[in-house]
Amino acid sequence: MLVYHLPGTLDTREADLDLLWEAGATGLEERAGTIRAYFAAPAELPGPVADGEWREEADQDWQAEFRRTLRPVRAGRVTIVPPWLRGEVEPGQLPLVIEPGMAFGTGHHETTRLAVEALSGLKLAGLGPNGTGARVLDVGTGSGVLAIAAALLGARFALGVDIDPITIPIARENAVVNGVPAGRVRFEEGTLGEGPLTFPEEGVDTYDVLVANLYAELHDLLAGAYAAEVRPGAPLVLTGILTARLPLVRDALAREDFTGVRETLDGEWALVTARAPAR
Ligand code: SAM
Repeated sequence: MLVYHLPGTLDTREADLDLLWEAGATGLEERAGTIRAYFAAPAELPGPVADGEWREEADQDWQAEFRRTLRPVRAGRVTIVPPWLRGEVEPGQLPLVIEPGMAFGTGHHETTRLAVEALSGLKLAGLGPNGTGARVLDVGTGSGVLAIAAALLGARFALGVDIDPITIPIARENAVVNGVPAGRVRFEEGTLGEGPLTFPEEGVDTYDVLVANLYAELHDLLAGAYAAEVRPGAPLVLTGILTARLPLVRDALAREDFTGVRETLDGEWALVTARAPAR
């Protein structure tokens, strides 16, 4: 990789940048007070930008670098890992394999970890009709991580919905990788308040648990829809909330008569749990 190192920053040498592009630069970036101009081949450079230095640098495989830095993420009884770290899951922990890719939810974000921890604490296998396992709704499923975690933790069924269609095949593939049978988890493009969601069982029209990793403003907007989707007293697990925005979520839950509101903080992020109104 051929890089021309030019002293200065993109700001201080803004007037010179066009000269680099015109000379054939394929990319420009700034690092530690130096402009790095990438070239496919050495070029003749005009006077105003001739004060730099050509260097041949080893190609850096950023993808490989990123993969090397990933570590398993422990969240309650679940450990979230990329496929190549499956062997590092400690005995007794449930492995949840997620291939880092285009959908949010590798477990490395505080909010994903907080939500999996909260699901892990809910004893999903014993909830639901006659204690046969909870039916879980995951709003904003991304990689499917929370719905899949719910299934691994004993949920009878989990539905993940997301407004971004790109996430759906990714989430489905992640379910297959984790060996979750098709009848236990389903992913659909969509959101709440746009007509009925898919239900796996005849005569059932509410969920036993709702989990959503969105942001505070959306929780505020959707709080009424959350109440409509779950049975009375069902646990609600909300995250994606910046601590500064907690009042918005508190007010929304009070407005919709949710009870037992509890908050867990991790740095600037919060998770809120509550119980659905009795109706
Ligand atoms: N559930 C995963 C997790 O916990 O890591 C991903 C959460 S990611 C922060 C939020 C996801 O919600 C994104 O995939 C985004 O496309 C989706 N989303 C945003 N607004 C939504 C809405 N109104 N309804 C459903 N999904 C939404």
